[in-house]
Amino acid sequence: MAGLDLAHVSKAYGAFEAVKDVSLTIEEGEFAVFVGPSGCGKSTLLRLIAGLDPVSDGKIAIGADDVTRRPAGTRSVAMVFQSYALYPHMSVFDNIAFPLQMERRSKDDIRQQVEKAANIVQLGTRLGDKPAKLSGGQRQRVAIARAIVRKPAIFLMDEPLSNLDAALRMEMRTELTRLHKQLGATMVYVTHDQLEAMTMADRIVVLNGGRVEQVGRPMDIYHKPVNRFVAGFIGSPPMNMLAATVLGADGKSVQIAADGVDPIALVHDGAVFAKGAAVTLGIRPEFFSASPLADAVKLTVVPHTVERLGLHTIIHAALGSHAITALLNGDPPIKADVPLDLYAAIEQLHLFDGDGQRRSV
Ligand code: ATP
Repeated sequence: MAGLDLAHVSKAYGAFEAVKDVSLTIEEGEFAVFVGPSGCGKSTLLRLIAGLDPVSDGKIAIGADDVTRRPAGTRSVAMVFQSYALYPHMSVFDNIAFPLQMERRSKDDIRQQVEKAANIVQLGTRLGDKPAKLSGGQRQRVAIARAIVRKPAIFLMDEPLSNLDAALRMEMRTELTRLHKQLGATMVYVTHDQLEAMTMADRIVVLNGGRVEQVGRPMDIYHKPVNRFVAGFIGSPPMNMLAATVLGADGKSVQIAADGVDPIALVHDGAVFAKGAAVTLGIRPEFFSASPLADAVKLTVVPHTVERLGLHTIIHAALGSHAITALLNGDPPIKADVPLDLYAAIEQLHLFDGDGQRRSV
């Protein structure tokens, strides 16, 4: 087991920079999740760590070892792919044993290691089966067991749950979290799914356009996204973003107005706001209430679609020119086309400046 250090890592394909100046430390035993939209460079970054592609610039260290120029096979990492990459003609046992056989370990040692890993992923009774007889989730467990027997310093996982259906994905999320605890291993996990990132990560690395936008614990990123991109990407349904205008500001508070919202004063971080400047007011759907709240803004919206999920109700509504999504607890008696008052506590509002940087405190 070891931690991971990336220092100014970049990767260019011709003139296109897929990864731009990424510096990052992942602690030993940490479960780090790289998350971001398609094409943001997360798989490329993982491949650079694995040594499957060379960096264009920067340094990669695993523990105390600078592995930047070392080939993949010598880096003490094991990678698990979305596609499982199992050998269909081999049994579960032989698939898991493969890396050990390549190392020419003794038969007894191989059997012991394979059985141990298969038990960890709860496939101890399926060692004689071929992959075709297994479900998608079980196949991915075989791939994980094959990674476990290698005893890598770092596990690298590239969207390992993407080929599974929703129910199985949820089960495997819990399973991977359990596995991480049991092995105490350093894991770097790539996903485009913010839910996977939020539920599994010790720390999330949000990537966009090849750059790191924010690194932090899930709840810190959720409550204090550094900019509008992160605020919109983490959280589901996504944060409502309302175009707003600065009415006036002093060193500590800024008064803003948005279409359909009474003027409000927000505490901010001391940034300079010009009167009339365009800003963005962010409100998470789950922080709306249909009952009045103290120190809150009131929005009178007109719902057009009401989705009842039992535990929650999702309301899609219009607020002047804005589209608003609200997630309310339970099953309130809300009707489409009937105006509805929604309240959001001022302390739960987010303010982003004209460059999209977070400004509320
Ligand atoms: P996805 O979730 O869609 O897999 P990603 O965030 O993992 O996205 P990458 O696969 O890392 O994205 O790709 C980042 C960018 O680099 C993309 O624009 C992609 O087209 C480009 N890219 C990746 N590999 C190569 C390559 N071998 N040659 C040229 N461009 C590449």
